[in-house]
Amino acid sequence: MKLSVIGIGPGGGIDLTGRARAALDGCDAIIGYTVYVDLLKNDYPDKEIKTTPMRKEVDRCRMAVEEAAAGRNVAMVCSGDPGVYGMAGLCYEVAQEYAPIEIEVIPGITAACGGAAVLGAPLMHDFAVISLSDLLTPWEKIEARLKGAAAADFVLCLYNPASHKRPDYLQRACDILLAAKPAETVCGFVRSIGREGEAATVLTLGELRDAEVDMFTTVFVGNSQTKVINGKMVTPRGYLQREQ
Ligand code: SAH
Repeated sequence: MKLSVIGIGPGGGIDLTGRARAALDGCDAIIGYTVYVDLLKNDYPDKEIKTTPMRKEVDRCRMAVEEAAAGRNVAMVCSGDPGVYGMAGLCYEVAQEYAPIEIEVIPGITAACGGAAVLGAPLMHDFAVISLSDLLTPWEKIEARLKGAAAADFVLCLYNPASHKRPDYLQRACDILLAAKPAETVCGFVRSIGREGEAATVLTLGELRDAEVDMFTTVFVGNSQTKVINGKMVTPRGYLQREQ
């Protein structure tokens, strides 16, 4: 009947919005990647749960669309926001192949916003979000976007900064940024935002180059104005500077 593509925030639990909760309360089945469904299933012991492994995104969306087309209310859960490197777009694409169903996208707190709040206030000014994963995007395009964002002095938020197969991608990205930005540029990264073991680090771009990060980490690179205030990463919006 209806497919709700739901963002559960970076860690689920109290990060879920009221809308996300209501959609989960009203659904017949919850579908998602195992790790995200695990964050929810204790809260919904009576719901039918269907999981698929990572990398099985198309299968997962097909399963969700087919269930909805068969007359059920389906909740497809994504971490963060479903429209930010999530499943929302793919659900619309896959649904074209089936009889029409209603699709509803329910936004969630994306890692950029969740992580920014942990670090302080790094995204106060114009920022660009770039994924370093080249599974679906050629690396040359990622490089071009990094260069463009650095040249335009955007604050940067980097998703998918590393994986087992690409342990050096953050280093490669930092080398590109260091060609256009000072090594002292304030940066930060947050691991396991909103989850057990959440940990934040504030450091310079020069230090970030050699930092070890994994796929559960989101990285922030400041603009030329970003500073450290009491250990927090803060990009001034410009109010105080205007008064001077
Ligand atoms: N839809 C998600 C993003 C999925 S892409 C969202 O809106 O947040 C996966 C990447 O998101 C990870 O590699 C990591 O960079 C980031 N991410 C997602 N959840 C995270 C969390 N809880 N802590 C840190 N980074 C996270």
